[in-house]
Amino acid sequence: MRARLISFDCDADGQIIANHLDDGGLVCDNGRISQLMSAADYAAQGFALSEIEDLRPCIIFPGFVDTHLHMPQLGIIASYSAQLLDWLERYAFPAESAYADSAYAALQAQTFLDRVVASGTTCAQVFTTVYAHSCEHLFAAAQAKGMALVAGKVMMDRNAPEALTQEAQACIRDCEQLIHKWHGKDRLQYALTPRFAITSTDAQLALCGELLQGHADLLLQTHLSENHEEIAEVGRLFPKANDYLDVYENHGLNTAQATFAHGIHLSESERQRLIDAGAKVAFCPSSNLFLGSGLLDMAALRAHNLSIASDVGGGTGLSMLHTCAEGYKVAQLQNQRFHPLQAFYAITAGNAKTLGLAAQIGQLQPGFMADLVVLNPTKPSGLGERFHRCEDLTEELFALMMLSDDRSVERCYIAGRLAYGATG
Ligand SMILES: [Zn+2]
Repeated sequence: MRARLISFDCDADGQIIANHLDDGGLVCDNGRISQLMSAADYAAQGFALSEIEDLRPCIIFPGFVDTHLHMPQLGIIASYSAQLLDWLERYAFPAESAYADSAYAALQAQTFLDRVVASGTTCAQVFTTVYAHSCEHLFAAAQAKGMALVAGKVMMDRNAPEALTQEAQACIRDCEQLIHKWHGKDRLQYALTPRFAITSTDAQLALCGELLQGHADLLLQTHLSENHEEIAEVGRLFPKANDYLDVYENHGLNTAQATFAHGIHLSESERQRLIDAGAKVAFCPSSNLFLGSGLLDMAALRAHNLSIASDVGGGTGLSMLHTCAEGYKVAQLQNQRFHPLQAFYAITAGNAKTLGLAAQIGQLQPGFMADLVVLNPTKPSGLGERFHRCEDLTEELFALMMLSDDRSVERCYIAGRLAYGATG
């Protein structure tokens, strides 16, 4: 393919670098990027440029990576309510209950992944539901697409509708079976998935911690310190814990394997303990604004402890570009900066690193998996007009993140195979 090629890296000093070929040639072989060079070099090496498809003025980026979203919440995006706990009860729990039906869950898993890929995201870390079959169906659908996916079944043993809770030992047995069957198969990884402290007993969190410590390559995903009412409830349910993070820490869950969604209202001590453990916070700006949860102090966390995520369905869209635009506004409200280079690095190489996949995806380099998104900067028309006036790459990236979303996605490739869009 011939197009503009842009990807991002971070040097030893934490500076983000854009690797940019204005007129580049990219060739895939056996699922990976095999050649990448300027069109001029491509021709100079004796290859015929006429034999590779010309996608200009489109831009090829590494496929976007989303570190936190919920499969069963796709259909409840934009549900009007009060804040988090009310929204969970009125919309999220009923939507998740519908997944008791395995045939419905199978259909939804397919639809969910199709929509994720159509938004430009080629790798994601996903909450399914308490029903093990919903996780099975999602893994099977991702495997069929050849997609890199992290997922887990939700663990809840209290404070949720009865149909969504499961006794702690039985839940762990389901997790063990899913790990055995799917973890490390093709491009799939398992993440232990306790929803949040409110819906798990100490007994469940203890079993989760034992399993995590027994498998150094497993991941963990959960929520932390999203909403004031939630935090107060955690204090009531765990009176011996010093703070919210302490509930997880007591069971060995504050580790480099963990992604904690939100982390908005952390104390200085909690932040430091997360940094020391190498755990990751998933910044979910679209969700945080929609549910009125609060503004994450991005500057207080280190770059390598921070990822960015859509948190659909609290988030109002799957697009990681839309998510970055919301992140920019959250930063502005605190007189902080979310530079476009930082944003694009985050949704590609940075988020890949959070999921332990930095050597395989997130950059355009020979040897990396050919997970690619092709963006058309002339769509939507508002972007096209603004893009025309941009004077440098930073301005162009900023216009893309503020004015674009899935409407700019022409194609997605997963392991070199067209997964969304049309050719020719
Ligand atoms: Zn979430």
